[in-house]
Amino acid sequence: MLIAKHLGSCRFIYNYALDKKVRAYQTDKTNLSRFDIQADLPNMKKSEEYCWLKEVNSLSLQASLANLDSAYTKFFREHKGFPNFKSKKDSKQSFSIPQNTKVDFENGRVFIPKFKIGIKAKLHRTFEGIVKSSTITRTSTGKYFISILVEVNVSDVPMKPICESKAVGIDLGIKTFAVLSDGTEIPNPKYLKQSLDKVKHLQRSLSHKTKGSKNRDKARRKLALAHERVTNQRKDFSHKVTKYLVSNYDTICLEDLNVKGMVKNHHLAQSISDVSWSMFNTLLEYKAQEQGVNILRIGRFEPSSKFCPCGYINKGLTLAMREWTCPECGTIHYRDLLAAINIKRFAFRNINTVGATEIHACGDMSGVTHSAQEAHKSSVCG
Ligand SMILES: [Zn+2]
Repeated sequence: MLIAKHLGSCRFIYNYALDKKVRAYQTDKTNLSRFDIQADLPNMKKSEEYCWLKEVNSLSLQASLANLDSAYTKFFREHKGFPNFKSKKDSKQSFSIPQNTKVDFENGRVFIPKFKIGIKAKLHRTFEGIVKSSTITRTSTGKYFISILVEVNVSDVPMKPICESKAVGIDLGIKTFAVLSDGTEIPNPKYLKQSLDKVKHLQRSLSHKTKGSKNRDKARRKLALAHERVTNQRKDFSHKVTKYLVSNYDTICLEDLNVKGMVKNHHLAQSISDVSWSMFNTLLEYKAQEQGVNILRIGRFEPSSKFCPCGYINKGLTLAMREWTCPECGTIHYRDLLAAINIKRFAFRNINTVGATEIHACGDMSGVTHSAQEAHKSSVCG
């Protein structure tokens, strides 16, 4: 199969280049560039030993060399690990196609260079714009994916006016996926928890199998499938929630969460990866941009669940306290809802002080706060 040939050849060239670079450096401290190695390609294709390289897209081979270059750069500049040789056994295999990918949406086919017929594909969405490059990946469960990078002119989409009545504050949580400042609650889907439990179970079962045995292979495959299922479910859920948000609100206010920093804390780690905040954020950003929806972020150190609109700050608030009563004004606050309301408040306060964006006056803040607290709790995506 030609895809397998591309995967194999790109892997081969990557390893060939890595080996050559390492050896050149060891011999006389020479740093070979990708272009030095690329110069070998024409002769290799003519040789009897490597003539099979002719069958694959030469731009894909060159892209492999570029990947190796960026792995080197990461090693030197960002102190990431030294580039490894790629193996047939790596769970993910991929190659890129720098040019000339075409998509036939009507017939569900993708055309790439060197392939005489279009490859049948399940296309998840349509797009308009200029195709820059694409990547074909084979997962550990033997499924093939193509991701296509498209350049779109987003400046064509006018941004909606920032207006408090059409804005929402979102508090991302652990027990509940998100609480919105208008009282809407978005629970975590139950099926995700079930799938995660299954992953845990399969992980345990794999660790009990003898290394190198057929049963271990089987268990590994099962685990890979379960992982894939969790990822797909998360993606699906994030798509649904972000779609709901950009179609119902013109401005979305969020905390600028440092997800990486929080995952280090082991107690929270599992739950945070469960709710997949970073996936949610990525999808939200791009859907918002497509729809002209504004995203306002506040600093993550604002005390959003401690701050009563009357000005009182509850410094003694702990994570376990789900609700509290303000001793100054007597308001009862539900922790997550108050956080969502304050995120919106702070976001609007920030743009009011900065004055960078024109704001359309639509009612005052305190009115929004009270009606939101009394708002009926409804649920989405349940
Ligand atoms: Zn108060």
